Amino acid sequence: MSKYERAVRRMQLRIPQNPLGPVLRRYLDHLVRHGYCTESVWDSLRVVDHFGRWLGRRPLNAAVVQQFVRRHLPVCRCPPPAPCDSRRNYMALHRLLTMIRPSVETRRPEFPRGFGGRLLRRYQEYLVSVRGLATGTVRNRLRSALTMLTRLRVRQAGQLATWTPEQIEDFVACEVRRHEPVTANSITTATRSFLRFLLQEGLIRRDLSAAVPGFACWRLASLPETLREEELARLLNMPDAETPIGMRDRAMLLCMSELGLRSGEVARLELSGVNLDSGILQARRSKRGGSATFPIPRKLSKALKVYLRHGRPTCTAPTVFVAHWPPRIGKPICSVTISVMVKRWAARAGLRKDIGAAHILRHSIASRMLSAGASLRQIADVLGHRSIDTTTIYAKVDLKALSQVGLPWPGAKEVQR
Ligand SMILES: [Zn+2]
Repeated sequence: MSKYERAVRRMQLRIPQNPLGPVLRRYLDHLVRHGYCTESVWDSLRVVDHFGRWLGRRPLNAAVVQQFVRRHLPVCRCPPPAPCDSRRNYMALHRLLTMIRPSVETRRPEFPRGFGGRLLRRYQEYLVSVRGLATGTVRNRLRSALTMLTRLRVRQAGQLATWTPEQIEDFVACEVRRHEPVTANSITTATRSFLRFLLQEGLIRRDLSAAVPGFACWRLASLPETLREEELARLLNMPDAETPIGMRDRAMLLCMSELGLRSGEVARLELSGVNLDSGILQARRSKRGGSATFPIPRKLSKALKVYLRHGRPTCTAPTVFVAHWPPRIGKPICSVTISVMVKRWAARAGLRKDIGAAHILRHSIASRMLSAGASLRQIADVLGHRSIDTTTIYAKVDLKALSQVGLPWPGAKEVQR
């Protein structure tokens, strides 16, 4: 029996004392079933055992995991085994979260019984088939509509007809106060969408969507973070060009920074969509569906060639980028892995701490285009934005330049809350 096997045995004895006991046991089975090696199993168990002891009676969700990694780990004085490396903790706990909610993506909000539930189902149908929105957007809209029905205590259709603009305004103001600016904007958008649907269904008599206060400037209040040219260059140089994973990661980073692809779009990129001879790449769009065709920039073309010839493991996956380690070797990688990858290289490149999501690379290309004189419409096309409204956020990047010549930004005053 190996050192790790013995360690796992010892850990099994501890499981009953852990507040996460039954979950921990399932976690162990889950890891073994998915073919993790004993060392990884032991490592992950150690993390989750520590997490469980800290968790106590708190609910188990993504927010608590964040709290544990960000606030507890840096000051942890728990008795061993309590590994404190935050990346390792994050990976093990991410696995735990995906195990307890296997399909976050496909999870539907639960509909209440009675009138509210029936209404929401019709609304869902409308969002999917009439508006053709992406799953994530539909989920957010439904959640927001459900909140609205609950807060305004709607039990039957007749009540909707009595809604007044003041009520709507109060509801939105109250909801917005409870959230961050970015969410605030999606609340107003979702509320307007629901009100328009109700009008179309003849459940309200006039268009109340005009009563929703405009918070467009709130979203603009948060500047999208971008990378400076030299920071981007430093990031792109991080992956080791000699190793297969380094080749893969560099090519993925370039897909995001040169073409502005989202991490999900990089993950779904198919071999059949990449034609290095003609220099054309076709990516399936995450949000508005369909696909977009790009000319492959020289740097990216070179990186893809290197990865496909020397880095990519032999496998049957249709996607360009695949996992390099068991248990998923040769299988497509997911967008979360890509985001984690960006974060890791950014940290190693010594870039600002919360450089975070892969989105920053998209932001960077947008502001590069903007300073090169591209129009917002052109940027929207490249980034695959559904509405130009989403793109105006990048105009804010130029605010610094604008402020130097003393031009006021429309709505800049209302930004303070
Ligand atoms: Zn601790």
